[in-house]
Amino acid sequence: MNQQEKNDRASWLQGPSAQCSVLPVETQSPWRLVLLGAPGVGKGTQADLLHQRLGACHLSTGDVFRAAGSRSECDQTPAMKAAMDYMRRGALVPDSTVWEMVRERTGCLHCGGGFILDGFPRTLAQAEALKLHMENEKISLRAVVNYELPLSEIVARLSGRRTCEKCKAVFHVSTHPSGLCDRCGGRLNQREDDRPESVTVRMEAYERSTAPLIQFYKALGLLVPITADGSPDEICDRTITVLKGSPSN
Ligand code: AMP
Repeated sequence: MNQQEKNDRASWLQGPSAQCSVLPVETQSPWRLVLLGAPGVGKGTQADLLHQRLGACHLSTGDVFRAAGSRSECDQTPAMKAAMDYMRRGALVPDSTVWEMVRERTGCLHCGGGFILDGFPRTLAQAEALKLHMENEKISLRAVVNYELPLSEIVARLSGRRTCEKCKAVFHVSTHPSGLCDRCGGRLNQREDDRPESVTVRMEAYERSTAPLIQFYKALGLLVPITADGSPDEICDRTITVLKGSPSN
């Protein structure tokens, strides 16, 4: 899966006019997954590992907003500037902005290598829009993985989370006290929205808006609950075992 690792996800991060550096290996039945779970439960880390193991592309809406935020002010649309403001506070970006951004990346949903949506959908309105859109596009989700962990553990993970400023790899301060990335040597930073005041707002938004998606996908027969304790590799192994063992897969 080395070839997959080098994909820069340009079409997702920059928009449909950009071309990914590496085209995914097309498969007969691509994995089309949604990852659910509270902020900090490890969805991004799992999406990266699942990408390496299943080949499907990691599509994070948070990454699109962060990529837009690092562009110069004049390259940002007014909607993106407003989105940055919501994001800094830890609040959800309005559904219309998020949906417009995902809809214009429909090509990524058709990707022959499949996709792993991380951080989207986050509200019932987004989930319904995605469902209708995928029906119209004649593509379907294979599963929705819900990562479960007690709240106290999640808060500990979030407050210690550090991201490499260069390669965006994610670590925990307890395992990387030097503050340097062991993949590329880049400096590890704390995400602005991982600070305590933003974490509280994000948890409230999760409980209010995102937790109801568990019932939504359960009713559709797509929900796969996974306990998110143990090492990232253990959690990934557990996920793949359950996914490959489920009757629809
Ligand atoms: P994440 O990296 O998924 O934790 O997302 C970081 C931030 O981006 C969130 O706290 C929101 O402000 C914003 N965001 C990302 N995805 C969505 C979404 N699907 N709906 C609303 N806001 C989002």
